[in-house]
Amino acid sequence: MATLRFKALGEISRREPIEPELSDKKISDYFGADVFDREKMRQYISKEAYESLCDAIDEGRRIDRKIANQVAQGMKTWAMEKGATHYSHWFQPLNDSTAEKHDAFFEPMWGGGSFETFKGELLVQQEPDASSFPNGGLRNTFEARGYSAWDPSSPAFILDKTLCIPSIFIAYTGEALDFKTPLLKSLTAVDKAAVEVCQYFDKDVDKVNVTLGWEQEYFLVDEALFLARPDLMQTGRTLMGHIAAKDQQLDDHYFGAIPDRVLEFMKDFEQQAYRLGIPLKTRHNEVAPNQFECAPMFEEANIAVDHNTLLMTIMRRVALRHKLRVLFHEKPFLGVNGSGKHCNWSLCTNTGVNLLAPGKTPKNNIQFLAFFVNTIMAAHKFGVLFMASIATQSNSHRLGAHEAPPAVMSVFTGSTLSAVLDSLEQRVSEKKMTPDEKTEIKLDIGKIPNILLDNTDRNRTSPFAFTGNRFEFRATGSSNNCAAPLIVINTAIAEQLTQFKEEVDKLIAKGIKKDEAILQIIRKYIIESKNIRFEGNGYSAEWLREAAERGIESIGSVPDAFKVSVRKDAIALFEKHGIFNEAELHARYEINMENLVKKIQIESRVLADLAANHIVPTAIRYQNILIQNVKGLKDILPDEYADMAAEEIRTIRKIARYVKAIRENTYHMVDARKKYNAMDDIVARATGYSEEVQPYLDKIRHDIDKLELIVDDELWPLPKYREMMSIN
Ligand code: ADP
Ligand code: MG
Repeated sequence: MATLRFKALGEISRREPIEPELSDKKISDYFGADVFDREKMRQYISKEAYESLCDAIDEGRRIDRKIANQVAQGMKTWAMEKGATHYSHWFQPLNDSTAEKHDAFFEPMWGGGSFETFKGELLVQQEPDASSFPNGGLRNTFEARGYSAWDPSSPAFILDKTLCIPSIFIAYTGEALDFKTPLLKSLTAVDKAAVEVCQYFDKDVDKVNVTLGWEQEYFLVDEALFLARPDLMQTGRTLMGHIAAKDQQLDDHYFGAIPDRVLEFMKDFEQQAYRLGIPLKTRHNEVAPNQFECAPMFEEANIAVDHNTLLMTIMRRVALRHKLRVLFHEKPFLGVNGSGKHCNWSLCTNTGVNLLAPGKTPKNNIQFLAFFVNTIMAAHKFGVLFMASIATQSNSHRLGAHEAPPAVMSVFTGSTLSAVLDSLEQRVSEKKMTPDEKTEIKLDIGKIPNILLDNTDRNRTSPFAFTGNRFEFRATGSSNNCAAPLIVINTAIAEQLTQFKEEVDKLIAKGIKKDEAILQIIRKYIIESKNIRFEGNGYSAEWLREAAERGIESIGSVPDAFKVSVRKDAIALFEKHGIFNEAELHARYEINMENLVKKIQIESRVLADLAANHIVPTAIRYQNILIQNVKGLKDILPDEYADMAAEEIRTIRKIARYVKAIRENTYHMVDARKKYNAMDDIVARATGYSEEVQPYLDKIRHDIDKLELIVDDELWPLPKYREMMSIN
């Protein structure tokens, strides 16, 4: 009965797109239509205001009040022409979503009448209540005031008739309460350090941007089935469910055609994304059934991060129209692949050079090698911070589970570059090189692009892999904000490049020629960072053993990952580059610990309710049917029944045992929660929840999944994996 009921609800499926008329248009006809981009700025604001605004965007200059007023006026006119009635600062607080507080342009007048207004000061600053967002004790509720401030480097856009203004979010005392503030600071730090290094090679470089191309994985579930699963609804993942007889064994989903209903959903959210200037390029099935991926063309990192969070919002909304639910949880289904969000990271100069792409000349390639080797050094020195940056309760279900790079850092370079590095190590020497030696090395370096083109081998098991013209950080979880890893990667590279510059300058001061000095320091780094390079299978047990032998630090648990970010060395790093002060790092640390407790607490409550109200009563009902059957057999077949009913009797016993274990473990789990709820210290509470409460979730699930195999399908109260994993 269960199956039929869920399926019937699932029938109401196919939907018209939000704007069917867009289907006949070229994407380029409406790409960016809802964005206040430079073209619209030029149209709607004065030349003077436009130029100041461009300066603010390109060079981080301040915008004065007069200009802000003009920009606000122009934005309002444009937005109202497009039907917007409200405006909102749009920001990314320290949780899994984005925040908006809408205010109307509309202004009633005293004594009657009304008009529409939007002043510069409202564009620049808005005051949401900081106490309602995670703030790690930075603000007490009674004095909670934080404000959001316009980030002119990410263009405003219209969503649902609201003019959204990308903003940072900070406490009145100045501490950042969001992802964007430290991200912007880290981008400035990279810019400064990288420009200095580029000056060795090209005096025209005065700006280096970080580029980010993310790949977003997600699952889709039919709405009716989703609504019949309280665990999915409340925790984003299934807390029970036996794996389906057929899931991803045949590897047939990855290469398969995208189901029609899913394709309709994709086209619909893509159209909305294009209107908002999100340059989506690829869409495809992923490894697990019902798992998909989309990826845009890479962009400047701040904009790419905004586009990713905005797209997640859009996908959630559009899914509702198609009677689907999109799951961004890293591990919604046990036993099949989880979802990640690969962050492809590179550096690009104002002269249009990708600093991580091999070039055409030896000079370009020394520059490439400098940035390449410095990135490896940054990963070597700060790798544990990289891994800590993406640690969340939900991502921990995916990492290390034989499908995503585990919580041990390593860098994959591919065999070609590995050989280049080895050869440099051997041939560059600290002794003065002869002109012949120098020419030969340069000739070799000049050849890199030719060999690379054919040799970008792929290693899907490495957390940080070089993929030809960028590094790909694969440990990021599908629900993570990309800014979290970027802040760390950027800060680490800024620190590393600063050190590189200092060391090269020292050699130059000693009279060593620039190129030779650079090559010598590159060689020194190749030797120092050798430990972090690994070309083999990052999922294998041997690698974990070897990594330990090499002394690479690994992270054992989520609370341990959070602790890494408040160690002395981490605080010193972030303070040196002006990314976080100590108070901010501690605030984030507490927020993370608190989130962890809350997530496990919710899962534990949901599972306890489901066990008590859905599973145990169902199991008992089925057990009673068996008992009746055995009794009946005894009545009519008194001589043979013991033999005939042997299997039933065994099953009755099994059910009794599972039910007993589920009940007992639930009691123990609740007791463990009580014990740790009583602890004031948030670290003790988080550790207790992680080490003692969480394991009960697995134990209880184990027994419930056994019951699912025994109990009559007609009685089973929840949709099963095989039902949720087929969209049609
Ligand atoms: P794959 O799955 O093989 O990694 P995809 O095409 O799915 O490849 O994704 C590659 C991603 O890398 C895209 O988002 C792309 O824009 C991005 N990318 C390519 N070049 C760069 C670069 N220089 N900087 C940042 N991201 C880049
Ligand atoms: Mg990729």
